[in-house]
Amino acid sequence: MHGLRLVRVAVPVPALDSLTYGLPPATPVPPTGARVLVPLGSRVLTGCVVDHDEASAGVTEAQVKNVIEVLDREPFLPPDVVKLATWVAEYYACGIGEALATAMPPLAAATSVERAAAAFRTVRVAHLSAQGQDANLSALGARQREAIELLQGTPEGLDTSVLAARGISAPTLKRLVGLSLVIIAKRRVDRDPFQAALRDDEPRAPLVLTPDQNAALGSLRGLFRSGGFRTAMLHGVTGSGKTEVYLRLAAEVREAGRGVLVLVPEIALTPAVAAAFRRTFGDRVAIQHSGLSDGERHDQWHRIRRGDVDVVVGTRSAVFAPLRSLGLVVVDEEHDGSYKQEESPRYNGRDVAVMRARQAQALAVLGSATPAMESYQNALSGRYTLVPLQRRVLDRPLADVRIVDMREEYANDGPDVVISRSLGEAMGERLARREQAMVLLNRRGYARALICRQCAATLECPNCSVCLTVHRAVRRARCHYCNYSAPLPDVCVRCGGRYIELVGFGTERVEADVRERFPEARVARVDRDTIRKRGAISALLARFAAREIDVLVGTQMIAKGHDFPRVTLVGVISADVGLGLADFRAGERTFQLLTQIAGRAGRGEIPGEAIVQTLFPTHYSIQHACRQDYPGFFEDELKFRQAMKYPPAVALINAIVKGRSPQAAMRDAGEVVQALRANPQVPYRVLGPAPAALNRLKGEHRVQFFVKGTHRAAMRQALVAALASRPDIRRRTIVDVDPMSVL
Ligand code: ADP
Ligand code: ZN
Repeated sequence: MHGLRLVRVAVPVPALDSLTYGLPPATPVPPTGARVLVPLGSRVLTGCVVDHDEASAGVTEAQVKNVIEVLDREPFLPPDVVKLATWVAEYYACGIGEALATAMPPLAAATSVERAAAAFRTVRVAHLSAQGQDANLSALGARQREAIELLQGTPEGLDTSVLAARGISAPTLKRLVGLSLVIIAKRRVDRDPFQAALRDDEPRAPLVLTPDQNAALGSLRGLFRSGGFRTAMLHGVTGSGKTEVYLRLAAEVREAGRGVLVLVPEIALTPAVAAAFRRTFGDRVAIQHSGLSDGERHDQWHRIRRGDVDVVVGTRSAVFAPLRSLGLVVVDEEHDGSYKQEESPRYNGRDVAVMRARQAQALAVLGSATPAMESYQNALSGRYTLVPLQRRVLDRPLADVRIVDMREEYANDGPDVVISRSLGEAMGERLARREQAMVLLNRRGYARALICRQCAATLECPNCSVCLTVHRAVRRARCHYCNYSAPLPDVCVRCGGRYIELVGFGTERVEADVRERFPEARVARVDRDTIRKRGAISALLARFAAREIDVLVGTQMIAKGHDFPRVTLVGVISADVGLGLADFRAGERTFQLLTQIAGRAGRGEIPGEAIVQTLFPTHYSIQHACRQDYPGFFEDELKFRQAMKYPPAVALINAIVKGRSPQAAMRDAGEVVQALRANPQVPYRVLGPAPAALNRLKGEHRVQFFVKGTHRAAMRQALVAALASRPDIRRRTIVDVDPMSVL
């Protein structure tokens, strides 16, 4: 045993614990956070040292493989980031390598020291051609299909090295280029395309804080100065001026010599906060977001790592930014669904932010007008300090909200009404006065489905258990889950019937109706179909801000924290779009969306109005949202969660087992559930297995079960143990701790 030096290494392989490797005699011991090349099976992988394993008693030289090469003498990832990622792996029950990969900058998977140094340069980026976006996947080989699917998910393109890391080889790409489905371009890495948009050096008179803002800043300053870990819930109504409070607090924390991390939902959708930080702190700020290319992200990361910046503003994964001596972590719009990563590791950036603050003995500030149920519960229980901002700046009133009962509209004007009389009239008035309006419908496309009047057949996705959505402009029916699409049929595919009816409607239809009704108005639409191209959203929002657009139609993308002073009317087409879903957060999401969108109106000098169309005018989510009554909503929603045993009343793990057939998936899930129930003493309940609400997705059958209880760690350990004996099932199982959605 003597002389055997061992390290624990995290390798980027799903659901794998760290592995023990030996160090060859002359090799210096790499510190925690250093990258090493290690063998795994027939492959050579870039791993990260997470621990030193002197105490592996009984391990002999013959049993461990050796590290091939040590890539870093100094920690590449700072030790506190390694510690955070280790916590993520445990809490969210994923592999340590997956969690560390999320913390690593792009291009970190160098295969030798020389390559590691050569990362600062141009990269080759692959993206889909127009033809590739509608490619017929079934005609392609498995690898090619995989490549297309990956690229469909990343409209800004993917670095070829990233594709290679996912097993998509250069020859595969070359064939796809030959088929004109994929385009490969060189991209320079030394510029951040958003930076210019965010750089707004127009001098502004410094704001005088309102008494409310002053009081909130005072409380937060007190928490920071008390030293140690604290979490504050900054509950401020829309337009109460939270950004200004973050800025002042950040300035004080920086003066105290500590770093500041600010998480925002999506920079392209809400550039205002990032721009404000940029204006205030100039080049001491790094902006990290998914709109950057890998090379750009890589450069930003290294600026932070070198200590060239002390403020980082970024989306979800920026929670792992290698900032030094962190003093403040702000999570803006902390309720936002985009903080949850919907692939492994399935972490919630907000909760990881709180843990990071805890590990750094820093202050965490969670800000929202509509806090997540979990966060507000923590605030009420005293775990978090509640800091309210009850009034809008300059005492601007919240928008008046009017509910339109669509059952009456349909009774009077027939079933095809999209824009009610009240909303239509209100829009007409605004247009006449040269004011702006926003119209929200949280569903894209022209119609929700096609149905044959003769045989009632609908057009369904061949891969998923959903109907295809009609997209009229491109004359295709498309699956919103797997992106499968087909030309719109002229006759029923089943019976040949010639009367095909469009059922339900989406933003594309709303836009068409607005244009028809107001031919003079300048109308634009914001949803995932219109903003595919990089930068398109910023351009559209900038045009709206410059009043080159009168009416903006869109999905929830337009509900976020925008500040357009000339918007005096907000229309919500179907407030209940989400309420029918079998998801325990449906009511919460509806409340948040309505409150946020109503908060977009009346932010300038002219008071605003919101008109909410719904089939359920008495639903508590809609009622409370119209009154902008968060505490009232919280109380009603908590009763529902307690009665149904959903978070925050209990901890929840959602497990989905995928299989080739419904029977196979059910059998596998049944085995895991049986193992979980084997011990009658356990402090949790298992519900299921049952077919998932979305029982087929991308060709796979899905069976679901829930673990509910009050002791999250025990629940997770039991589930991990039950799956450990069946690695084949484990590979096909999604384990989602604290799920955002259970569909
Ligand atoms: P929130 O994020 O709370 O919805 P914002 O931070 O976007 O609110 O602020 C809303 C608007 O009020 C912004 O245009 C901001 O510049 C302005 N504002 C903030 N604080 C003040 C203040 N003390 N005096 C005047 N205007 C302010
Ligand atoms: Zn599909």
